[in-house]
Amino acid sequence: MASRHGSVLLVTKGKLSDCNSRLAQGGIAAAVGLGDSPEIHMRDTLKAGAGLCDEDAVRILVEEAPARIADLVQMGVDFDTVDGQIALTLEAAHSMPRILHAGGDATGARIEEALSRLVLTSDIHLEENALVGEIITGNGTAEGIKIAGKKPGESRSFNARFVILATGGAGQLYRLTTNPSVATGDGVALAYKAGAQVTDIEFFQFHPTALCIPGLAPFLISEAVRGEGGVLLNNRDERFMPSYAREAELAPRDVVARSIVAEMTKTGSDSVFLDIRHMPHQRIAARFPQIYRFCLDNGIDITKELIPVAPAAHYMIGGVKVDYHGETNIKNLFVAGEASATGVHGANRLASNSLMEVLVYSRRIVDYTLGIRGKEEETSQVKAETMRLPAAEPEAGTGKPTLEGLQNLMWYKAGILRSETGLAEARTILSGWQAAMMAPEGQGGFELGNLVLIARLLVEAAFTRKESRGAHYLEDHPHQSEEWRKHIVFEKEQTGGNCS
Ligand SMILES: Cc1cc2nc3c(=O)[nH]c(=O)nc-3n(C[C@H](O)[C@H](O)[C@H](O)COP(=O)(O)OP(=O)(O)OC[C@H]3O[C@@H](n4cnc5c(N)ncnc54)[C@H](O)[C@@H]3O)c2cc1C
Repeated sequence: MASRHGSVLLVTKGKLSDCNSRLAQGGIAAAVGLGDSPEIHMRDTLKAGAGLCDEDAVRILVEEAPARIADLVQMGVDFDTVDGQIALTLEAAHSMPRILHAGGDATGARIEEALSRLVLTSDIHLEENALVGEIITGNGTAEGIKIAGKKPGESRSFNARFVILATGGAGQLYRLTTNPSVATGDGVALAYKAGAQVTDIEFFQFHPTALCIPGLAPFLISEAVRGEGGVLLNNRDERFMPSYAREAELAPRDVVARSIVAEMTKTGSDSVFLDIRHMPHQRIAARFPQIYRFCLDNGIDITKELIPVAPAAHYMIGGVKVDYHGETNIKNLFVAGEASATGVHGANRLASNSLMEVLVYSRRIVDYTLGIRGKEEETSQVKAETMRLPAAEPEAGTGKPTLEGLQNLMWYKAGILRSETGLAEARTILSGWQAAMMAPEGQGGFELGNLVLIARLLVEAAFTRKESRGAHYLEDHPHQSEEWRKHIVFEKEQTGGNCS
């Protein structure tokens, strides 16, 4: 749509298809079913967000979602149907079946293919394998981007009226993740370095059920498998979720992930098992073709055998703070998708709201930049405290970071279960690592530098937040505290002191 009104340069650091979006399995949430409504969708989203959602941002999401589904259908996405009606499935913490899917569990791939077809047949200038290394700013306004060249220090600059970052998540922060290798949080780091505010970064969602086979990268086993009746068993064949949560397997993701960790610890095991054998074989193969095929290729026939699963880092809930039109505190710098913090997810993302957030807020960015839509007043009732990241201090003995070292540190000290001691340790090590890092060389060095920066922001916020809320669980403070019903916001050039 934007390319009909001006020239658009689309830059991606890998191939067009290297992204989180393509991997989405479960589907996309919209209140389009009989008996459902944006109000009910909103209630579920606010409940999952544990007191930190921006209600107006959520209202925008749920009310505009059905129209964005219609856009996708027009763009050629064929959602699955049953008897001529759109098929809807249930996922955790949704009070009714609300998740549209395409190609069974290939929703992301179907959407990505449809959008890529449009890009390739449009006037959009596409640059693949091009790494954005800097946002050019002047007088508090974004003016363009720099793309890293092949040799160190080389770069190409592009001026632009509007810069829109849609750089995805940062799952590569963690040892186990469902995210692809491109998910290194570059957009959040680039925007922060340019002076943009970053918020809610301590909330990182772990998916409870990633396939757990030694030597194999975690492969997501969609929540829809539990939505369709799959149950979790421990290594003694006992169903355990009902003893942890009233909603059992369909409790919010953070609850299921922590329950699995508790059960693995109790039984001394590296995984638990997902059992879907009650479903007719043909239905499994038709409803979950990707999962069925992937497991079969790796020696597990899920129609007859249990699926070994364990939690893995999945979704960056926080990101660059944006308004209802996707704009940051830097004029003409916009952020969409997982890299943004629109206020929709609060402290915990409701399953399948993220693809919809990408669509709703990207559309708003385009409408705003084309002058179709003016700015609306921001009315968030949740307080925010602005913090500054302490300067990185050299630390004796920490040396330089490696990706593996960082991923292990984050997994064990700032993962599903956090403690003040572990976070304090991580803080010191990360500060030392950042101080020891020279100007990054090559794509790997650049990405590692970004991950270390985001890790520092995440750990600092997690250490500061003395409560447990949503996806942030601090063993020393296991309950939610009204005092902490506020956002932590980081800003680089902030003149004030620490969070008060
Ligand atoms: C396995 C999996 C399953 C999921 N299932 C669902 C689901 O069922 N429903 C749902 O709603 N959500 C799901 N999610 C989450 C959802 O897919 C993502 O949040 C969403 O797709 C993010 O879209 P995005 O456009 O923000 O980022 P992405 O789709 O990840 O795209 C980011 C792009 O930016 C590029 N990029 C990054 N840094 C740079 C740089 N420095 N220079 C140039 N290019 C760069 C990347 O290469 C990539 O192409 C799932 C996620 C995963 C990983």
